[in-house]
Amino acid sequence: MPEATCDIGLIGLAVMGQNLVLNMNDHGYSVAVFNRTTSKVDDFLADEAKGTKVVGTHSIEELCQKLRLPRRIMIMVKAGSVVDETIQSIVPFLDKGDIIIDGGNSLYTDSTRRTKELADKGILFLGTGVSGGEEGARFGPSIMPGGNPESWPHLKEIFQSIAAKVDDGTPCCDWVGPDGAGHYVKMVHNGIEYGDMQLIGEAYQMLKDGLGLSPDELHDVFAEWNKGELDSFLIEITEKIFAKKDEDGSPMVDKILDTAGQKGTGKWTAINALDLGQPVTLIGESVFARCLSSLKDERVAASKVFRGPTDTPAITDKAAFIEDVRCALYCSKIISYAQGYMLLRAAEREYGWKLNLGGIALMWRGGCIIRSAFLSDIKKAYDKNPDLANLLLDDFFKDALTKYVSKWRRAIGHGVAAGIPMPAFTTALSFFDGYRTATLPANLLQAQRDFFGAHTFERVDQPRGKYFHVNWTGTG
Ligand code: NAP
Repeated sequence: MPEATCDIGLIGLAVMGQNLVLNMNDHGYSVAVFNRTTSKVDDFLADEAKGTKVVGTHSIEELCQKLRLPRRIMIMVKAGSVVDETIQSIVPFLDKGDIIIDGGNSLYTDSTRRTKELADKGILFLGTGVSGGEEGARFGPSIMPGGNPESWPHLKEIFQSIAAKVDDGTPCCDWVGPDGAGHYVKMVHNGIEYGDMQLIGEAYQMLKDGLGLSPDELHDVFAEWNKGELDSFLIEITEKIFAKKDEDGSPMVDKILDTAGQKGTGKWTAINALDLGQPVTLIGESVFARCLSSLKDERVAASKVFRGPTDTPAITDKAAFIEDVRCALYCSKIISYAQGYMLLRAAEREYGWKLNLGGIALMWRGGCIIRSAFLSDIKKAYDKNPDLANLLLDDFFKDALTKYVSKWRRAIGHGVAAGIPMPAFTTALSFFDGYRTATLPANLLQAQRDFFGAHTFERVDQPRGKYFHVNWTGTG
């Protein structure tokens, strides 16, 4: 029987798993590893993990024998049924109190189910969102753990030591909540990531098609933006993308086909927002924008059928237009995060979780794809008022929107006149206008519903909760 000396086991040596193992090793933990295709274990030990304390195994039984009690086994395999199959293959070799951690992009409802199923067997389950891609996994990801709370004390030290740290050294990892809360928060993170990327894409199209800026000029604009309120990982990499040249010396970005891929987490967020009745419009539009982008052949054909506007007013002040677009991007981003936080609040109510909303902003502050200076402002807002009804009502965000809204409107006005598609910019502004409008046309909608379906309505001159029906076509 091999000696049980390893601190943690990891199954799944693809890019994320390998990098997490090396990260844990760097922080002094001994890690035993296993992969379905066992030659990858040998290759890893001979190459990337050469000279480390990483221990290779060729079966799950051997992996379990190498682990100290309670065993901690992290799974980094393809999300979906593979996670269930892997869990089933581990359980026979575990004792009560051992812990399984799923660090893949699992659907939160699967994590809720797994937490319960494993708890029935005396096994603790942790469904953990890991963000930051391969670079994050290697040098400090954002880690969002949820599941069985009894497991957290056994993982806290390892996860917080390998996680990214913000400026004051605080780790971008803390307990999120029970059941699938960790994967839920990771899902919303990914949805927000879709929104951030779409907004940057729309700013790019405004500056490219509206103003005619070249990739080199765009590089300068984004470099400037990254010094201010938009300071973030995604703006920083976009700046670098504009500077990258292909082998022939032309901008790389111009060589890339304009059809966006997606793996589903943005769609999950949008579906969940519909399920919970939350107007998370910007993430929804961002998912649909990717769908529209993939209809390349149809778009090319339609571009020959429909001409865009020919009477767009000329832009006379380039610098002012760039500033308008920056403000449109910043204000839309505020709306997107406000919507994301509305969803988190609704999830708390729906699933009976208590989420640490400020702590979540801190977990996203470093290590992950949406990391940005802006998240510190969200953290401050929830520190000031943990019961904040909506991020838009926090003084900092209220002041920012008030200051920039006319530039935001001007940028969109120009985009509409020029026929530039801006689904996320426009939905953000429509949401803002809807949110700040005391009386919406839903009175008419209720009248229509009552007219054709006797669905009843409430009256403005009667207490809420009393319902009325009118005979719309009768004379009496
Ligand atoms: P991946 O491509 O999603 O999965 C590959 C791993 O899954 C390999 O170890 C593979 O083993 C194993 N696997 C696939 N089918 C299997 C099966 N039927 N039975 C057992 N093992 C099976 O790997 P990844 O990109 O490193 O991602 C791992 C997880 O992290 C995923 O859930 C992913 O969504 C999530 N994630 C990825 C990123 C990223 O940037 N890539 C970022 C955050 C989260 P074999 O070698 O034997 O095929």
